[in-house]
Amino acid sequence: MTAMTTPCSATTRTTCPYCGVGCGVSISQTGDTVEPVSGDTHHPANFGKLCVKGSALHETLATDERLLYPSIGGKQTSWDNALNLISDKITQVLNTHGPEAIAIYAAGQILTEDYYVANKLMKGFIGSGNLDTNSRLCMASAVASYKRSLGSDTVPGCYEDLEQAEVLVLVGSNAAWAHPILYQRMAAAKKSNPDLKVVVVDPRKTATCDLADVHLAIKPGSDAYLFNALLAYSAQAGVLDTEFIEAHTEGFDDAIEQALSEFTDIQDTAQTLEVDPQSLATFFHWFVESPKTVTLYSQGINQSATGTDKGNSIINLHLATGKIGKPGASPFSITGQPNAMGGREVGGLANQLAAHMDFSPSDRDRVRRFWKAPRLISKPGLKAVDMFDAIKRGEIKFIWIMSTNPLVSMPDADDVKAALANCELVVVSDCMANTDTTAAADVLLPACGWGEKNGTVTNSERRISRQRSFLAPSGEAKPDWWALTQVAQRLGFADDFPYQHPAEVFDEHARLTAFENNGSRYLDLSGLVGLSQHEYDTLTPIQWPVNQRYPAGRKRFFDDGRFYTPSGRAKFITVTSEWPEPRPEGHLIMNTGRVRDHWHTMTRTALSSRLAQHIREPYASLHPFDAERANIETGQLIRVFNPRGEILVRAVITDDQRQGEIFVPMHWTSRYASAGRMGSLIGKHRDPVSGQPELKFTGVDMAPVEVAWQGLLLCRTDPGAPPCRYWAYGPAGDSHGFELADTCSTEALLEWVQNLVELHPDDQWVRIGDPAQSHFRLLLIREQRLELVLMLHQHTIDYSRQWLLDQFSQERLSDADRMALIAGQPGGAYDNPGNIICSCFSVGDKAIRAAIDAGCNSAEALGETLKCGTNCGSCIPELTALVQKCANNESIA
Ligand code: SF4
Repeated sequence: MTAMTTPCSATTRTTCPYCGVGCGVSISQTGDTVEPVSGDTHHPANFGKLCVKGSALHETLATDERLLYPSIGGKQTSWDNALNLISDKITQVLNTHGPEAIAIYAAGQILTEDYYVANKLMKGFIGSGNLDTNSRLCMASAVASYKRSLGSDTVPGCYEDLEQAEVLVLVGSNAAWAHPILYQRMAAAKKSNPDLKVVVVDPRKTATCDLADVHLAIKPGSDAYLFNALLAYSAQAGVLDTEFIEAHTEGFDDAIEQALSEFTDIQDTAQTLEVDPQSLATFFHWFVESPKTVTLYSQGINQSATGTDKGNSIINLHLATGKIGKPGASPFSITGQPNAMGGREVGGLANQLAAHMDFSPSDRDRVRRFWKAPRLISKPGLKAVDMFDAIKRGEIKFIWIMSTNPLVSMPDADDVKAALANCELVVVSDCMANTDTTAAADVLLPACGWGEKNGTVTNSERRISRQRSFLAPSGEAKPDWWALTQVAQRLGFADDFPYQHPAEVFDEHARLTAFENNGSRYLDLSGLVGLSQHEYDTLTPIQWPVNQRYPAGRKRFFDDGRFYTPSGRAKFITVTSEWPEPRPEGHLIMNTGRVRDHWHTMTRTALSSRLAQHIREPYASLHPFDAERANIETGQLIRVFNPRGEILVRAVITDDQRQGEIFVPMHWTSRYASAGRMGSLIGKHRDPVSGQPELKFTGVDMAPVEVAWQGLLLCRTDPGAPPCRYWAYGPAGDSHGFELADTCSTEALLEWVQNLVELHPDDQWVRIGDPAQSHFRLLLIREQRLELVLMLHQHTIDYSRQWLLDQFSQERLSDADRMALIAGQPGGAYDNPGNIICSCFSVGDKAIRAAIDAGCNSAEALGETLKCGTNCGSCIPELTALVQKCANNESIA
């Protein structure tokens, strides 16, 4: 429960700040509290549903970890001082080194209004194109492939297409975990239409495969080869839309010649892809038989050194078969972040100018006149990887990083750290105080967080929604657009940056999209120009364009054969199917991605104890063969390394993983684990067209770590990082939880623990221990309540973690409780739930196993018995997988 701005009861409709699905969220406030959030039943993205992350949003509003005040060099200061320093430094760098020595690195987390002001300031007034964003890591290749082929960064379809399709092809997308509400929409569509076919193309068997009729675990990187083969197969099957190709496209002959030259037959293709020929034949057959096919793709396509070509191989196939912009038929890229699309709309990538205009003389002239810009840039700026390289070389002297954590998420993250250390002034705006990147800042600016922000975002189907504030800003937090406006005014541009409210910024953005548009650009918000503040505040979700022709927005594009290339025809891009050989820096290929209950670098989701319990530690999943060869057992601590660095993670052995490949989640930072930053291993290989880094194809090796001891620390107050080689941190109910391990003695840790808390006179330590066995149990009891528990042991032991957590909420521990605590097990009967699968109702794998043994043979049956999966539904794929594993007599623990 969180303090709010107004004392009366109120409901606010806003948008979830996590993934690109862009679900509507309804907030109810009663008195001085924010009630548990619910889905906005009116929002067309989710119609009232929320996934587990969205449904825990109210649990992430605590201000404990917030950045509350501006600071310079670690000392709290006023906004005035901080803004003066920033504008003085920009002026000095401009005068001394020129505009290209100035950079902003933004994020798909900021609002369209924030992006607009940043873009205008940099590209029109400071005169630097070096405004890039973490969206470069997310969907830059999708943008590049749309623009190469369709002439415009325009997503052709909409979410309804997922329900209207006859065949759904998900490529490089674990939607069940990364875009859960879209996954649930697809699952519901399949339930109501059992004829709907679902094909998942992914080297890993993910939770999304629960929905798949066919799973093609292709060799990593071979996506373009697959879609070229399907193009050739479609040609041979005679299902190409020759009328559409002739009337509305160009470049087809070269593209089909290339595809046909690579394709022999399904058997050979399957062998190259390393998949079952029958499954491949089934997929190809479904595709050519079904005019209504949607190919949904995400980071598995984009985060590649050939991501743009891969995207174009998908678009080629849809153009050639006429499956574009029709109900149930489209190529469809899904963005990772909540406002990656909004950033694309204003020009928030370094290779864009503004409002879907680029660098042609006419575009530049139009933007210059609209902004009355004194220093309009003439060419694109540096993309993310190049930008941080330029900082390291000393060419960029000033960077402002907004709402993102590049010291974790960028490839070669340690090199980014070195780059920032070499920058004359690093400004970081963030809502969280303790991130790897805030630690590298010279100036920290407290930014409004979700619930405090006010503006718009655009989701993956081009739908603009309002993100509304319902909380007063924490401390001295301010909106990003405000901070940027203040700097612009100090730089002498007050007349051009007069904004007092985000509605004014949105209005200017809408006017720029409409300016001299006359149908020349798809992005046209002329229908939203001139909104009053009230109209802006009450704006309902709407897909762009919004103009005279489409006053209520437009669902689909390109069915009319009209494209925004110079010729007006869509371009087939001749794509070769070569893919990179495994990187020489290791024998295994490391893939990276999201887990179900965490978001990005965990700064917000790790505030929710409920979300933190699903997966508590960084891990690597690996194939049993690779595990055996490396002498690794499941649950063991392992090193994953290459010449760039090393991470320490838990081994999860599973044949869901292909041999020779491992998967590591992207989320763990220095705040949440001793050595979990996967970005430190990743190289700077990137797509030559989009500049998007290859985050899913890193050469690594691995080895077991022989630990001398491991254990658990639970502490009522956050003790900071423990002095041991391995730890992983997360909130744990009323305490802070650490998983611990080390290869040397327990001495340093025990000493640290006993000095952690300032002892009160009647505090009681309860200890047992056997140093020879590295076996210790330690309790601190204060005023009859549990203050701290430490359990160290040589080998894995089966203690009841959830029961230990529950003891922190006990007001008075009995003698029996103390005895049980030191034993690590409840004295009487206690149903240990095991590892939590359903975060909403804290249902663990042990309870689920027992229910399956008792006769529950489906996710629905488990839901009826245990309630698991009956709230947000995010765990249903895992429940189904557990039922399946039990049916196959496989271990589920
Ligand atoms: Fe938020 Fe989940 Fe919806 Fe994504 S699917 S927008 S994380 S509620």
